[in-house]
Amino acid sequence: MSEVKWGITLFNRFSDKIRVFDTTLRDGEQTPGVSLTPENKLRIAQKLDELGVDVIEAGFAAVSQGEMDAIKLIAKQNLKAEICSAARGTKGDINAVTKSDADSIHLIIPTSDLHLKFKIRKTREEILKITEERVEQAKKQGLIVELSAEDATRTDVNFLKEFFSKGIAAGADRVVACDTVGVLTPEKAYDLFSDLRDSLQVPIVSVHCHNDFGMAVANSISALRAGANQFHATINGLGERAGNASLEEIVIALKSLYKKDVEIKTGLLYSISQLVSRLTGIYVQPNKAVVGENAFTHESGIHTQGLLANPLTYEPISPELVGGTRRISSGKHSGIHGIKDTLDKMGLEPTNEQLKEIALRIKNVGDKGKIVMDADLLAITETVMGLNKIKPIQLKEITVVSGDKVTPTASVRLRLNKKEVCGAAFGVGPVDAAINAVKAAIIETEHIHLEKYHVKAITGGTDAMVEVVVTMRKGNRKVTAMGVRGDIVMASIEAVISGINVLTTFYNSE
Ligand code: MN
Repeated sequence: MSEVKWGITLFNRFSDKIRVFDTTLRDGEQTPGVSLTPENKLRIAQKLDELGVDVIEAGFAAVSQGEMDAIKLIAKQNLKAEICSAARGTKGDINAVTKSDADSIHLIIPTSDLHLKFKIRKTREEILKITEERVEQAKKQGLIVELSAEDATRTDVNFLKEFFSKGIAAGADRVVACDTVGVLTPEKAYDLFSDLRDSLQVPIVSVHCHNDFGMAVANSISALRAGANQFHATINGLGERAGNASLEEIVIALKSLYKKDVEIKTGLLYSISQLVSRLTGIYVQPNKAVVGENAFTHESGIHTQGLLANPLTYEPISPELVGGTRRISSGKHSGIHGIKDTLDKMGLEPTNEQLKEIALRIKNVGDKGKIVMDADLLAITETVMGLNKIKPIQLKEITVVSGDKVTPTASVRLRLNKKEVCGAAFGVGPVDAAINAVKAAIIETEHIHLEKYHVKAITGGTDAMVEVVVTMRKGNRKVTAMGVRGDIVMASIEAVISGINVLTTFYNSE
């Protein structure tokens, strides 16, 4: 099949079915500084299953007891996805996989001369023999075998094919050529995988890319165009060094740019990205493709105007496709249209004159290098329009208890419109307890979600001023708010209350 575009004939041999092998819990977990408990791995695995991936590589059974426990825990759930464990080419590693109750083994064996000579000190002949024996052992132990050539892209291609052929003859069900250090280019990926597809007698050929040169997604897609029918990827592109190919980017690029559907519930991508970010502690960079906070946030006046008339003007991916939310932020690049739209959602209808003044004041704040939060926009508008500042919620009193051998507990007394309300709650720490107490006090917050919580110390030292920025969501409305205090609990509560105030403020135009 070929398609002609821009005068270039793009040869493509996409397979009818492209399988998704998720390695967030194995290669992704090898991200420096990341370590997941079995319970948190399970939470991610359940979400991955819902997303529709074909294989969940849940860990590396031989690495530790925790890894073994995590794989066992996940294997017990009867998820739709196949549960896989990674292993090196040793008898012990394979036995560990069998013990973990995983359905399949991802058997990783190095093939490049560099790895053979300096890492495992074996000859090519020895590697072929080991591969044959281990694949046979794994098959005998009832495992589905996914055989990976580590550093395949720096391996002599004839030896690589010999290695795979030996493995396939010994019973390997699938083979993977790994771009372990991310040195492929899309052109090389196309050539390599065409060659593998043509010369190997195996139902599934998979690609596994790393992002050292920022080309992991492009390389993976190129391999799929050449006929590879499975890709390895991670949520948020987590992984060692610059990470693995990002699952969400591959899926959305295939769907949107190549009109090639994979069986993934794309509407869950944003939420799973958030979950993985929360549990691993690795923030998603704001300008990350597909799931970054700014992917669907617009500030520039020119863009916003076009966008409001027709989202296609500046939104190549609709937020709904990945379960995200469009947000128009205010700042020095803002135009009247964007500000008007945001204020509309708060029920505010300034006159044209007032609107111009509001825009001017926002630009002034922005020019001073400050970020304009939605809470600031509301405050500015109230001033310009001469409205009584509506702050439905005001903090009257807060008590927080935390320490060693104490369950962090908080109680708050708030003024809500004209009455007083109280709430108390526990939390994982003082900030969490305090926010939970606010939520417990106000029934209206039931549908309000704290999506993002970010702390920054503005000055050095332990007496630093702390800036807390929150993103809160109610339905498909999202707002930002900030709190700045010397006390982290107070800064957090200030930010959260101000966010809730913006979300619950709705002026009547009577
Ligand atoms: Mn890898």
